[in-house]
Amino acid sequence: MKTSRPIALVIHGGAGLMRRSTFSKDKEKIHRDGLTEALRAGYSLLEEGYPALDAVEAAIRTLEDNPLFNAGKGAVFTHDRKNELDASIMDGRSLKAGAVGSVTIIKNPITAARLVMEQSPHVFLTGKGAETFAKKMKLPLVKNSYFATQVQLDDLKKVQAREKAIEEKLKRHPNAKASPHQPTKLGTVGAVAIDYLGNIAAGTSTGGTVNKRYGRVGDTPLIGAGTYAKNGVVGISATGDGEYFIRAVAAHEIAALMEYKGYSLERAQKEVIHHRVGKLGGTGGVIGIDSTGKIAMNFNTPGMYRGWVGADGKINTAIFGKS
Ligand code: ASP
Repeated sequence: MKTSRPIALVIHGGAGLMRRSTFSKDKEKIHRDGLTEALRAGYSLLEEGYPALDAVEAAIRTLEDNPLFNAGKGAVFTHDRKNELDASIMDGRSLKAGAVGSVTIIKNPITAARLVMEQSPHVFLTGKGAETFAKKMKLPLVKNSYFATQVQLDDLKKVQAREKAIEEKLKRHPNAKASPHQPTKLGTVGAVAIDYLGNIAAGTSTGGTVNKRYGRVGDTPLIGAGTYAKNGVVGISATGDGEYFIRAVAAHEIAALMEYKGYSLERAQKEVIHHRVGKLGGTGGVIGIDSTGKIAMNFNTPGMYRGWVGADGKINTAIFGKS
């Protein structure tokens, strides 16, 4: 049943060091095309009257299948040259949520997260257990090598070479300052949607940070940190240095500022990105939609892959600071 409420969809493909000056026309085009494809997949469902949850899942699956983004195929490598994926989804109507962490053979982690929400009594399943659950749900499984791309392997090698150089320097000069852990490639994907009934949903999916080890999990699968949705308030998906987004409880904090302090979405996002995550030393961005269908995107990095469609149905994509 359609009503006259506005529908909207916003997505991101990660925040990071994207500057116009370092981007070839081709690179810009393929990323914008990737974002457009995901927007089409999600928005067409909203137009047909499907729930926000379906639009979020469809948009994220498209980005997971696209090797350009750090989620699903194209995910960053761990220290041990594997791909370990995290994802979460939240339904603002019921405050139900589902997540998977450190999964290695589930083709579309966002769908697994949705099934955790809908078909299990739990919210967050990890590792082998999550994969056993996915098998039981008959989700498509792949070899871990399916997620691998040469671009990400080259990036891992670069990061590991830098790490080695720092270790050697510290051996020679034990008093030299060790630079803090610096995740390089950001490129997580996420989506937020509002449907004709005013239901809001949000989801996020990632390969995490390059060279991660010890089973490291970031903010992406943590409800309240990387993903949050509450009808009547907002839906949020985050991307960036997960450790800082966890400590700032970023996605929920935006919702709380709006619900309890009456902040607009724009103001709440800016407060959390610049004054909370930013003050702790973290970089990244957030996207969101409020209960009226208003869209906002804020980041403290030079760029963020992003795209949105409002009630007018027009597809917009942007990468750099201003566009
Ligand atoms: N937030 C993700 C993580 O920390 C990384 C990203 O957004 O690129 O795992």
